Amino acid sequence: MMNLNDQSLLREECFIDGAWHPAKGRKISVTDPADGREIATVPDFGAAETEAAIQAANAALGPWSALAAKERSAILRRWFDLIVEHADDLATLMTAEQGKPLAEARGEALYAASFVEWFAEEGKRIYGDVIPSPTTDKRLVVLRQPIGVCAAITPWNFPAAMITRKAAPALAAGCTMILKPAEQTPLTALALARLAELAGVPAGVFQVVTGDAREIGGVLTRSDVVRKLSFTGSTEVGRILMEQCAPTIKKLSLELGGNAPFIVFDDADLDAAVEGALASKYRNAGQTCVCANRLYVQAGIYDEFAARLAERVKQMPVGRGTDNGVLIGPLIDADAIAKVESHVADALDKGASVLTGGQRSQAGATFYEPTILTGVTQAMRVAREETFGPVAPLFRFETEEEVIAMANDTEFGLAAYFYSENVRRSWRVAEALEYGIVGHNTGIISNEVAPFGGVKQSGLGREGSRYGIEDYLEIKYLCSAIG
Ligand code: ADP
Repeated sequence: MMNLNDQSLLREECFIDGAWHPAKGRKISVTDPADGREIATVPDFGAAETEAAIQAANAALGPWSALAAKERSAILRRWFDLIVEHADDLATLMTAEQGKPLAEARGEALYAASFVEWFAEEGKRIYGDVIPSPTTDKRLVVLRQPIGVCAAITPWNFPAAMITRKAAPALAAGCTMILKPAEQTPLTALALARLAELAGVPAGVFQVVTGDAREIGGVLTRSDVVRKLSFTGSTEVGRILMEQCAPTIKKLSLELGGNAPFIVFDDADLDAAVEGALASKYRNAGQTCVCANRLYVQAGIYDEFAARLAERVKQMPVGRGTDNGVLIGPLIDADAIAKVESHVADALDKGASVLTGGQRSQAGATFYEPTILTGVTQAMRVAREETFGPVAPLFRFETEEEVIAMANDTEFGLAAYFYSENVRRSWRVAEALEYGIVGHNTGIISNEVAPFGGVKQSGLGREGSRYGIEDYLEIKYLCSAIG
């Protein structure tokens, strides 16, 4: 049993139409990735409950969108306050079901809250336009209105932030939302729903349905009532959902996979580059879509950078997220470990070497040692696929042109990072990288005020920032003849 300050945040029921619904039969087991133990169960719901949620969301839409933005803002502000107040409980739930170290989980709770605060404020600033008419007898006005009922499908790697980053702009804009969280991490989602209930979010405005992903996703995407889907997850599933949304021409926001390059030029501040690489690569044990996946280091500093990085990586404590000082928790499951192992094996087969790590950790079956590989080339799987684990493959490069070509040689385009102290080069590289987000001399780029999103097959739309709310708004052009 988990020890929470507010035990009512541990929900084993779904939140539909303002009420808590227990499982009717089948349940999903929620386990601790550190040891596979069951920590709770949630309902294994499907089509019927999803239909009910869609109806409730539709019924709630009129009254919710009719509120003054200031009134919705006040409710969201209360949700924000409650998330902050209960950050420790949210962290406990997240570490239990997702595995990330407690300090990171607490950081995520506050990061998740920041989207609610931000969009509570932005919701009051959904301005329209008055367009000077080409004729004197008409007035042309642009209104921005909520899209309507929205659906969200979210992943397990950020069990809280990926939800608020969608729900907060949706609700602030006047939309209602049905969420299907990842099956691995439903408890955080349900706790957020409980806090939304306590904040006074009306019935049907924010709902959480857990269960069969395909069935729930199928109903949400087929529905005429649902006008928009926001999805964060793999490019593979994103493609399927996009196809399913085609018949109803649903609006889409997609945050998909990445394959982030992290480039260190000869003229970089090496200490800063090492810090940035640690933050970008090993956060959440390498399980984020903006984690550095390929580290390109210029030949002149390659050995020095590798040595300095290894010195730090060797000291990173691996263990349960609840243990003091742990920096690397478990991976989400056995498949994740298998993928990391196969990427490392493939690299070693093709001539790479292990500088540190390179194997499972003794902490348990789902733990992998923080690893550095050297002598990595574009022919290896780590160059093409997201490893999603604590493995830093170091590629050697000679020229700026060469590294830009290698960095862009991928179907993905989410985040990229580079380190250079040279102003001219920095502008050239920043403009040449085909990515939605570029970190220059930093490995940490995410916050609520900045637009997060990818180009190419990394997705559609932007989350966070003043752009993030636009994904939940339609433009209406009003042409009024007064002559
Ligand atoms: P990951 O590899 O990170 O688990 P996925 O794309 O498989 O990424 O999962 C992200 C989210 O998409 C999860 O909530 C998962 O349940 C959901 N999902 C997976 N497959 C489908 C599907 N066919 N239809 C709808 N949702 C899906």
